[in-house]
Formats: sequence, structure tokens, C-alpha cells
Amino acid sequence: MSFSAEVKNEICKTSIIRPCCTLSEVYGLILYATAFNCREIRITTSNSSLKKRIPILFQKGFGILIPTFGVGSMTTFLLTEQDEIKTVFSAFGYDFRDTALHLNRGIIDDDCCKSAFLRGAFLSGGSITNPEKKYHLELATNHLTLNREVISLLLDLDVKPKTLKRKNSYIIYLKDSGHIEDFLTMIGAPISAMHLMQAKVEKDLRNKVNRQVNCETANLSKTIEASIQQLNAIRLIDQTIRIDSLDKTLYDTAVLRIQNPEASLGELARLSSTPVSKPGLSHRLNKLIELSKKIVDNNL
Ligand SMILES: [Zn+2]
Repeated sequence: MSFSAEVKNEICKTSIIRPCCTLSEVYGLILYATAFNCREIRITTSNSSLKKRIPILFQKGFGILIPTFGVGSMTTFLLTEQDEIKTVFSAFGYDFRDTALHLNRGIIDDDCCKSAFLRGAFLSGGSITNPEKKYHLELATNHLTLNREVISLLLDLDVKPKTLKRKNSYIIYLKDSGHIEDFLTMIGAPISAMHLMQAKVEKDLRNKVNRQVNCETANLSKTIEASIQQLNAIRLIDQTIRIDSLDKTLYDTAVLRIQNPEASLGELARLSSTPVSKPGLSHRLNKLIELSKKIVDNNL
């Protein structure tokens, strides 16, 4: 099941009790529905929990039995009866001739109703990406004014949305995991909010581990690169002036490196039979490299 469906299923468990919130939820639902005008109110969904919730909302909110028909997994709730549409219009303070959809803030004055409104809006116009992939929650509508008004509503609620236009749709979206969590909790999906939080913790941890591994790999390859350069120098010295012609300190250093090709500088210093510091050892190895360069330059 998609994360969107999980969230919607959770939201649909919210009890339908307060008349003010019931109206507000229907309001969000129909403002973000497929159609809401004086000819028809049409809500189409494939979510089984929402299919059960819509008739209850209309029954409790308006005493209306909303007609329904299904095609495949999609179910459409369609109100065409003029008197019933008028009832809905007047409940939300619209003139029956109103065509432009806008948000009547007076309907959702109380905080409980704002949450209920956004719940309805998300149920019909919202979606959320699986947080294991990325953080993205959006609300889509074809109505510019509505889009602007819902943005200002969210800003009032301290949720800071972004917006974009995609084909004919105006999209409000959230990218910040904290804002998404707040939004989910507000609309009645605290468990989904928790799942998102857990996904974020896991993702952050995985990133941290990856960074560490990358860092270790980088360090490792640096060690190996340095070692290869030193071994090449030693081999060149041995093929030309021979390493046993070197003074004892450099000879010991060369042998130590030949015997421990994969050791880091620190490990090499610890393996040395005579005490030597890391900088001291590094200096000796560099001397070997310089010597090999001199040999090449002077063609010894
Ligand atoms: Zn309320």
C-alpha cells in the first residue's frame, strides 16, 4: 500500500462528531474535488476508507444521501440534484451563481475546523511520497484563488508551504520533514507522522554511516596511493644503487615498507623496531622518494 493510502486510511479513522468540523471536512473535500459548481459536485476516489467516509460526511453534514457509481477501482460520488447542491452552497456561504472557487475563512474559524478542512482537502486533493524515498506532501487544485487562500491559511498555522504550477494544476507542497510531520499530526495522522520521523532517523543514520565509510575508503586509498609511490621509489633505488647501500635508518625504513605494503604511516611507525614518530617516519619515506627522483634526474 502506498504511503498516501496509509495516511488517508489513518485520517479516515478520525471520528465524525462535531457538526462544525463535519462541515469543514466536507468543505475541504469538495473544494479539492474533481468538480464543485452549481451543476454538480463530483468526488472521485480509489481509496476504500474514503469511499466509506464520504457518504457519512454528507449524511451527517447535510442529511444528503450522495449517489455513487464505480468504474474499476474508482468510485465517484456525484450530486446533481439542484436543491441539494443549493443546500451545500448556502452552507458554505456561496451565492448559487458563484463560479470562482475561493475559501470562505468564516466557515473554518476555529482551530478544530481548520484541521478538519485540511483533512478533507488532503483526502481529495492530497498525496504524500513514501518518506523512505523523499519528503514531499502536496495539495493540488485547478483553482488559483483557492491555492493562494490555502497557502495563507497554512502560513497562519505556521506551516510554510511552497507552490508551483504543473500543467493546469496549482500545487501547494511541503518539503521539510518537520512541516510534513506537523501537517500530518494536525489533520489526524499522528501515526503516519511518527513513521515519517522514524524514516528520517533511519535515513540520517544511514547517510552518516555512508559518509563515514566514504571517508574511511578515501583515507584508505590515500594510504595505498602513498604506499605505492614509496614502493616504486624503493624498487627503483634497489634496481640502481641497491637499498643495502643506504644508511641504516633509510635501509630499515625501506625494508619496513616492503614488508608492510598496506600499513598506514601510524601503523608503520608502531611496527618499527626502533622508536620513530609519524613525522619522523614520513620524513624518511620522503627522503627515499626524493632519492629515487634524483636517480631518475641524474640517470644514475
Ligand atoms: Zn470544528
